[in-house]
Amino acid sequence: MGEETFDADFTNAVDVTATPAWRKRAVELAVERGLIGQAMRTEHPNMFECVSASSPRDYRIFYAPQTGSVVCACEAGMHQTPCGHAGAVLLLITRLAPERERTAEGGPRQ
Ligand SMILES: [Zn+2]
Repeated sequence: MGEETFDADFTNAVDVTATPAWRKRAVELAVERGLIGQAMRTEHPNMFECVSASSPRDYRIFYAPQTGSVVCACEAGMHQTPCGHAGAVLLLITRLAPERERTAEGGPRQ
């Protein structure tokens, strides 16, 4: 067994959340959890919100268009694990899913 070293070159490292495999899994989770069309844009162009299937509060998701990085505030997202919220946002960004319906005030329709 080789020992791990800390001198690896990360110069060209790709954010795992920007990889096709990560995105595919996130979208699969969005489908499984019924989160398609449950993401919406916020006032901030790179910030989104998505309904949580398990919690009454919405999660905030940050998407960086320059790198393709996706960061969700949920438990999985904190550990760069794919989650359905990120998947729902990716589907919204790529126009494969509609945005969550809004009320006349601009807030999410319950
Ligand atoms: Zn999430």
